[in-house]
Amino acid sequence: ETQAETRAFEAEVAQVLHLVTHSLYSHKEIFLRELISNASDACDKLRFESIASPDLLAGDAELRIDVSWDKDARTITIRDTGIGMSRDEVVANIGSIASSGTRRFLEAMGSEQKADARLIGQFGVGFYSAFVVADRVTVLTRRAGAAPEDGVKWDSDGRGEYTLESATLPERGTTVVLHLKDGEDEFLDGWKLRGLVRKYSDHVAFPIRMPKEAPAGDDDSDDKKADAAPEWETANDASALWSRPKSEISDEEYQAFYKSLGHDFNDAAAWTHNRVEGSQSFTTLLYLPARPPFDLMMGGRDERKGLKLYIKRVFIMDAAEELLPNYLRFVRGVVDADDLPLNVSRELLQHNRQLERIKGACVKRVLDLIEKLSRDEPEKFAAFLRAFGNTLKEGIVEDASNRERIAKLLRFASTKSDGEAQTVSLDDYVGRMAPGQDAIWYVTADGYRAAAGSPQLEAFRAKDIEVLLMSDRIDEWMLGNLHEYAGKPLKHVAKGELPLDAADKARQEEAAKAAAPLLEKLKRLLGDRVEDVRVSARLTDSPSCLAMSEWEMAPHLAHLLREAGQ
Ligand code: ADP
Ligand code: MG
Repeated sequence: ETQAETRAFEAEVAQVLHLVTHSLYSHKEIFLRELISNASDACDKLRFESIASPDLLAGDAELRIDVSWDKDARTITIRDTGIGMSRDEVVANIGSIASSGTRRFLEAMGSEQKADARLIGQFGVGFYSAFVVADRVTVLTRRAGAAPEDGVKWDSDGRGEYTLESATLPERGTTVVLHLKDGEDEFLDGWKLRGLVRKYSDHVAFPIRMPKEAPAGDDDSDDKKADAAPEWETANDASALWSRPKSEISDEEYQAFYKSLGHDFNDAAAWTHNRVEGSQSFTTLLYLPARPPFDLMMGGRDERKGLKLYIKRVFIMDAAEELLPNYLRFVRGVVDADDLPLNVSRELLQHNRQLERIKGACVKRVLDLIEKLSRDEPEKFAAFLRAFGNTLKEGIVEDASNRERIAKLLRFASTKSDGEAQTVSLDDYVGRMAPGQDAIWYVTADGYRAAAGSPQLEAFRAKDIEVLLMSDRIDEWMLGNLHEYAGKPLKHVAKGELPLDAADKARQEEAAKAAAPLLEKLKRLLGDRVEDVRVSARLTDSPSCLAMSEWEMAPHLAHLLREAGQ
C-alpha cells in the first residue's frame, strides 16, 4: 500500500475538531504544550521499549524534541526522535478517537457547542488543538525499527478528511508541521515560542531544542540563517523535577510541573514530595487539584491519567489504579521507584508486593496532606471538600483500614450549623454531645431541605440534641459502612430508641396508658399496612410520623432502590 489515499475522519473526530477549535480560541497557545507533550510521550515510549529491544535506538540514541519555525513558509515544526507511528497507528491514533474519555466528553458536551477550554487536554484530544492555529497540518512519521521507506505522511486541513501516503524518511520519530492560519503570525517568533516552552513544558524530561538566534540588532542575522544549518540550544530545564531536593524547588516550579502533568490551567491546592530511603527506595510527588477534573464529575475515570509510574526516571506507565485506591482518584502525581524491574508489566504490577507497600505509602501521604490542609488552610480545605468530598466518602466503604481517618476529614450540615454548608466535623459533633448522649444522630434525605424539615427531628430539637443532615447521594451507602466514630455509634433518627431520661419515661408510660384505646382502634384500621402503632416521644408539633425498626431500610434508601428499579 504505497499509493496515496484519502480518508474521512471518524464522525466523532470531526465533532471533536469542531469543539476544540471553537473552544480554545482564548487559549490558543496550548497547542504547543499538547504537541510537545505528545512528543515527550513518544520519547518515553521508545525509551521504555528500548529496554527490551536496544536496537530500536540504532542510528540515534538521543531522545529529544526540536521546535522550529519558518517565517516565509509560515510554519511551525515540532519534531521528536521518539517511537513514531506505523501507517495503521496513524489511522488509529489520529484519524479516530480511541479514548473512551473522549466519548464521555462528547456525550457531556451534547448540544452545548462550547467546551470549557480547561477540559480539552484531559481527554486525549490534544493533537487536534493543532487546528486551533493551523489550517493545514502535516505529520511525517516513521516507527522506530522500521525501514526508511516505511515512513508515512499524513496531511489534513481538519475539515473532515485526511490523506495518507508513503514517505521515505531518513530518521525515526515524528515531525508535525503546522501551516498557520492567517492572523496567527505572532507564533512565528522565537521569543514568543521560547516563552511558551518555558511556561508549559519546562519540566518535560527530554531536551526541547530551538534554533539559536542572533542577538537582536544584528543586521545580517537573516543571511547567516539562510546558508548555515541552525545551531540548536536547549530551551527547557529537562530535569525530572521530583528527583531534585525539595529545598531547591520553588512553589512556582511545583505548580508549573503540576499544570503540565495534570493538563490543568489552575494551580494545585497542595502537594507532598517525599523520598523514602531503605531496603526499598522510592520518591513520590503527589498533588491535590483545586478543581475537579471533568471525568471525575462525570463519575468516570480516565485511568491513563493521574499517577505516573517511573522506575529510575524512566517512564513506565500511567498507573493510577495500581498506585492509589479509587476514592483518591483525584490525586495527580509521580511515583519513581528505584527497585522495581524495568520490564514490569501491568499484570505484574497488580500483584507486586513492593508496589503494595508504595501504594500504602501514597495513601498515607495523601491523607496526611488533606489533614494538613484542613488544619492550616481552612478555606482551601473547604473548596477541596466541595470538589472532592463525595469522592472521599467512597473511602469509608472502600478503605476500612483508614475509615476513622477519612471520617475525621468529612464535614456535614447539621441542626446546629448554619444552613446548607457542610462545615461540621464528627469531632465537632462529639465535642458538643450532651451529657448522657450516647450516639451520633443523623437523618438522611434526598435534599438539604427535606433533611432539615424532617418531622423526625422535632424531639431532638426539643431536647437540644444535634442531628447531622445527610443529603448527598452517596451518604446512605457511606453510612451503611460507618457504624461508629470515636467509639460512639452512628444512628438514624428514625431508627432505634430515643435518648430518654427518667422523667421522659414516666411521661411516656402515662401517655401510653391514656392512648391505649386509640392505639387499638388505629391498629385495627391500618391492619397489615403497619407492623405496630405506638405512642411516640419523637414528636412535639406533628401528630404522627412513620418510624422504622433497627433493621429496616431508611426511607431515603428505599426510595433510591425503587428508583434504580430494585
Ligand atoms: P493523547 O496524547 O492524550 O493520547 P493526543 O490527541 O494528544 O491524545 O494524541 C493521540 C495519539 O496520537 C497519541 O496517543 C499517540 O498514540 C499518537 N501521537 C500523537 N503525537 C505523536 C507523536 N509525536 N509520536 C507518536 N505518536 C503520537
Ligand atoms: Mg497528547
